[in-house]
Parts: sequence; structure tokens; C-alpha cells
Amino acid sequence: MRQSQGMCAVAAMILCAALAGPAAGQDRRADVLVRGGLIYDGSAAKPFVGDVVITGDKVTYIGPKASVPARRVIDAHGMIVSPGFIDAHTHADHFLDARDRSQRANPAWTMQGVSTVFLGIDGNGTPDLKAEFDRYRKQGIGTNIVSYVGFGAVRHAVLGDVARAPSPAELLREKALVARGMCEGAIGLSAGLFYAPQSFAKTDEVIALAREAATRGGIYDTHQRDESTYSIGLMASTREVLRIGKEGGLPVHISHIKALGHDVWGKSTDVIRLIQAARAAGQDVTANQYPWLASNTGLEAALVPRWAADGGTAAMLRRFQDPGLMPRIRVEMAQNLARRGGAGTILLSVADETGDSPPNAWRGKYLSDVARQWKVDPLDAAIRILRESGGHASIISFNISEADLENFMKQPWTVTSSDGGPGHPRQYATFPTKYAVYVKQKHVIDTAFFIRHSTGLTADIFKLDRRGYLRPGYFADVLVFDPQTYRPRADYTHPAVLSEGVKELFVNGVAAVDDGKPTGATAGRPLPHIPPAGSCR
Ligand SMILES: [Zn+2]
Repeated sequence: MRQSQGMCAVAAMILCAALAGPAAGQDRRADVLVRGGLIYDGSAAKPFVGDVVITGDKVTYIGPKASVPARRVIDAHGMIVSPGFIDAHTHADHFLDARDRSQRANPAWTMQGVSTVFLGIDGNGTPDLKAEFDRYRKQGIGTNIVSYVGFGAVRHAVLGDVARAPSPAELLREKALVARGMCEGAIGLSAGLFYAPQSFAKTDEVIALAREAATRGGIYDTHQRDESTYSIGLMASTREVLRIGKEGGLPVHISHIKALGHDVWGKSTDVIRLIQAARAAGQDVTANQYPWLASNTGLEAALVPRWAADGGTAAMLRRFQDPGLMPRIRVEMAQNLARRGGAGTILLSVADETGDSPPNAWRGKYLSDVARQWKVDPLDAAIRILRESGGHASIISFNISEADLENFMKQPWTVTSSDGGPGHPRQYATFPTKYAVYVKQKHVIDTAFFIRHSTGLTADIFKLDRRGYLRPGYFADVLVFDPQTYRPRADYTHPAVLSEGVKELFVNGVAAVDDGKPTGATAGRPLPHIPPAGSCR
């Protein structure tokens, strides 16, 4: 811009400006003026009616009636204007890596008003973050991304899928991989201790790696070891998270906090008490949560005991052939099925864990119905499905109580996440569901709480640079939605339907949603965490 201006001789300035267009710097107008909306700026401040001005990729004004002329004026009367939502836990990479540019634009999320998604969660994030960020910059993505280096990816790279502790030399290699991920921009270390092979790790191993993240300013995020009564139990598992934070020397963030299964229903109160006590003692503990009563996981992870998955899915499928082992596997699978509420609470997802929807007769049906249809025991149906899907069958599992969900949602340290991935409506409809059901219908939280816990508070927890608030000089991730029509359209049997009610969404100043429709823009950026000076060599 400056260059073209400099090349213009003074006498020819008018012509040059006309040729180069407004971008030549002659136009003093702002790019976008969002006029007269009810503004929630991401903080706890009271909303007010006013204007927001965007110039380039930044917010340049927020306040009562703006007097700057703008190239584009959006009438936001009757609308809510807020920062773009931040989704702290997603599996959005299958869209962001799609061949199709319109998928990479990530409309599933932008049509909910989400401008930033977190990746690499549950311990899955690659240590090779530089390559990942470069790839996303090159191919173009619709939302900003924040990413973790994952304990699972690190452990798998060093130890494979085996159930044993690392040797000292192996631990050093694990540490080096965590350090690499942190130095390449990871926000912290994510873990999914519930899942094999991460479940094979003892707490000490995790603490040793968490310290590598800690010295580089990272956070520890976890899909904790047990949200139910699978192994050590929900309470001991929560204590383990707190211990990792304390001994690792870093903030901890519990992902998709819940009390999973009848055995632990009502335990939200105890979990909250534990977290409150830790916070009162000065520990930095927060959580994210999705507003759904059903989780989404693998059929294998939900039902098959971890010891039977030692060595990976192929090894598990081989054990299914072993008449010596099968009785014990069946007993434990039956216990796990009961823990989740029985075959009538397990809906076999229309998409599998790989994101594909290969044709299988059982997809979109409850396990109980499939068993009835096949005239077999639900366990045999589950085993047959695991075989047919190569272990990749994904399930929607109704295992959360409304009371626990609401209890966690109201906490001052809980922010919104979708955990969205193929086959569950949360990928398309989390934020509008939280608003439509828990703000408007049930009044569990109010609009201000919903917005703050989906924007500014999330940005504070992760120390995101100039995101999450509408402030001059901050990046222009700006959402305009209609409080009358903002609602989900996806449901459990039709999980892939875009939400409605978002009028405009700007990501870095570029419209990702315009007049209620996705634009296909790919203005999202990787948001690498900058480690403290001297912590990376
Ligand atoms: Zn998870």
C-alpha cells in the first residue's frame, strides 16, 4: 500500500489513487461500521447500544455513535454484537484439512459465530507444529486455530502403544518432543489419559512432561483419566489433574468437564468443591464444557477394557478371537456398558472416527435396536460392530445428567467448548444450543454470562493476544447475531446441519459469514503461543 502511494507523483495523485482503488491509502474511510447493535465486549461490563468500527484486521473504534465514514455500514439494530466465539476443544481439523476450500472455510463453526477453534486436544496434537501452522497458512482456513502438543502423540512416537513406563532415555525423548511443540507455538500440553495408550502412563510421567510445557509458559489441558468409574474414579481422577498442575507448575484446564454415567451422577457438586478449594489455595484451575447430555467417543474406548487394547486396535481384534481371553473381556465390557446406561443409551454414530460414513446397516441406530434386529446379545452386537469397523465405530452416548450439566455450566471458571467432530450435532450447533436452551429456555445462565464465557474469559485463560474482546487495537473477530433467530438446526439423527441466526461474522476483519450465509473466506490464522524469552534454544 505504502509503496504504491510513494510511487505516485503529487500531480498524478488523484489518478493514481483512482487506479489503485481505496487500498492505496487515499481513502480515510474505515472498512466496516457495525451500527446500533447491543454490544457485549467480552468483559463482564454491562452491554450497551453502540457502534463497532473495523479497519483492516483490527477493531478501531467501539462506543456510542461513531462519526467515521465507512465503506460498508451494517445495520445491527436489534442485533447482539460481540467478539467472535472461541471454542476451547474441537476436532475441527477434518474440515480445516479438507480438499474442498468451502469446507476449509469451516462453516460448521462460523455459522455458530465461532472465529477461533482449539486443536490438538485429548493428547492428539503433533509436536511438529511449525509444519502444521505453515500448512494451514498456505492452504487457507476459515477460523483461527490454537493448538496443543499432545501427550498421546508424543508417547506414541517414543513408545508405540505398549502398556509400560518409559525408560529414562525414552522419557528424555518424550520431553524433547514436548519442548519442540512448545517452542513451535503450542499453547500447552494436552492429554487424554482416558484413552489407550495414554492410559498406560503413570502420573509421574505426565508431570515430567507437563514441566516442559510449564517452563515455556504452557497450560495443561486434559480429557482426564476417568470421568466415571472406569478406573480410578472421577474424584481421584480430578485429584490427579490438580496434582499434575501443582507438581508440574502450570495452570490446568479440564476439558469437557462432566460426571459420566449413573454411578457418578450428582458428583458435580464434589468435583466443584475440589476445584474451588484448589482455586482458593491459589491454584490456576479452569474447565471447558459442552452443553449436551450425550458424549461422542469410540465404541472401543467406551466398552473395551484398556488391557485388551494393549498393542493397539489390531491386537484387540486378535484378542476377540482368543477363547481363553474372551470370557474376561465380555465381563468387563458388560460392566462398561452398564456404566454408560445400557445398550439403549448408545446411538451408533452416522460417521465413524475417521470422519467417513462408510455404509453399515447399524449406523444411526441404537445398539439395543441393532442387537434386537440381529437377534443377539448387545455385547455380541458391539463386538461384531467393532470387527466390521476395524475398531473405528463412533458412538453418541447418553450418559450425562441435566443437573450435573447445569451445575458445571454456572461456574465462574467454566467456558464453552464443542468437542465437535463428525457424527455429533455439537460440531454444528454447540453455541446456539447453549444460548437457545440454557439462556433463553431454561435461564440457567444469562446472555452476558454466555458471551463472556465464550469469548473474553476463554482468551484470558489461554492468554490469547488481542482476542476475545472488542477493543480498539484488538483483532477484528466480530460477531453480529440475531437473538430472536439464533438457534441450532442439527440434532442427533441429522448432525450435520448449519445453525442459523448469525448475521455477520468477521475473522481478522474479513466476513466469514455475510447476511446469514457462509462466504467461503479463509481469513483464519494460526495463533502460535510465544514462549518466554530464553525458554527455547
Ligand atoms: Zn476428549
